[in-house]
Amino acid sequence: MHVRYLQCVRCGRTYPKGEIRYRCDCGDSIEIVYDYAELMGHISWADLRKRTFCHWRYREFYPELKKKNIISMGEGGTGLVRSRNVVKKAGCRELLFKMESLNPTGSFKDRGSTVEISQAKAYGAPELVLASTGNMGASVAAYTARGGIGCGIYVPKNTPRIKLLQMEAHGAAIKRVNGDYTAAMVEARRQFDENHVYLAGDYPYRSEGEKSVSFEIADVLGSDYDYIAVPVGNGTLLHGMWKGLKELTLLGLIDRLPKIIGVQAEGCNTVAKAFMCNTDRIEPVLPHTLMDAVACGDPLDGSWALRALKESKGIAVTCSDNEASCARNMLALEEGIFAELSGALSTAGLIKAYEQGQIENDARVVSVITGHGLKEPEAFKCRVD
Ligand SMILES: *Cc1c(COP(=O)(O)O)cnc(C)c1O
Repeated sequence: MHVRYLQCVRCGRTYPKGEIRYRCDCGDSIEIVYDYAELMGHISWADLRKRTFCHWRYREFYPELKKKNIISMGEGGTGLVRSRNVVKKAGCRELLFKMESLNPTGSFKDRGSTVEISQAKAYGAPELVLASTGNMGASVAAYTARGGIGCGIYVPKNTPRIKLLQMEAHGAAIKRVNGDYTAAMVEARRQFDENHVYLAGDYPYRSEGEKSVSFEIADVLGSDYDYIAVPVGNGTLLHGMWKGLKELTLLGLIDRLPKIIGVQAEGCNTVAKAFMCNTDRIEPVLPHTLMDAVACGDPLDGSWALRALKESKGIAVTCSDNEASCARNMLALEEGIFAELSGALSTAGLIKAYEQGQIENDARVVSVITGHGLKEPEAFKCRVD
């Protein structure tokens, strides 16, 4: 679709399209606003479904790109797997797992990368820089390798080894900071501010790509489900999914919106705490959790995720490392699904919300499995020599 302008999600200030803008001057997230009228009445499920079931099936919903600049590996098109056993503990009528762990680099980040790195290619960036807790770095390293773009990644001190190996395999230059993800973000941002290196990360183009998780869910289920459970790190996936759902509503492709269950780690509960305290102020924290992929102490898209939770009349839940680990084991032992700890967080949160009496018995729920268990083998004890 044609981009009309960029707009701050908090103060509403607009910026012209084509401007490289990461944040609003007020410090908050920026979203891309399209010329929706152009698509109104010209898009239907029947036409979309003539294309392969994958992220780019919904290409009209992303900023326009020349074909030669699109760097893609067939991301998306992930399965929606019906729960056989965990559904009993989650108390709902039906539970479906959206298998984002099956993307090319093992997490949903590839949906954001295909849009964001294609955009960097179109811009002609020779190299780029980003901060990552691990999965985004692994994904961007793969997409930049494919696109012939140099890649520098700042990672927190405790980044899991396999995720570092993934980045290294694709030729990225890894710079480990002596601190958490927020410290890594400061360093990446400095490269942009001082040396004008193209900055990648949880910025407007990435969230545009992550909308496709909800496009695919709507493509398969229509409006016939009640909740989507999503983990929250920076909050980019949650708000991207919500933006996508609202766009489908605007264009008449769905007629009902689900409620969003936003799940955070107890030791990094920024957005959930603000939601529960009914305030718009998100207080940064120093993360204390084993769920490295959601350990974002100062979440870039926190205020947008918070607003999405409220708009959807959704639920915010926090889970301990132990609760997430129980959910991860349950997924592995009872469903055959191998998730990393942060990837099991949505299911842990759903079970907790049910135990707290927040989910109805007849609900139909989608839980997003965000990352693959193979990324975190050290988390499992192996009893075979
Ligand atoms: C990045 C990531 C998250 C968190 O997503 P945000 O967009 O930062 O909120 C959750 N789980 C996994 C496996 C991730 O890689």
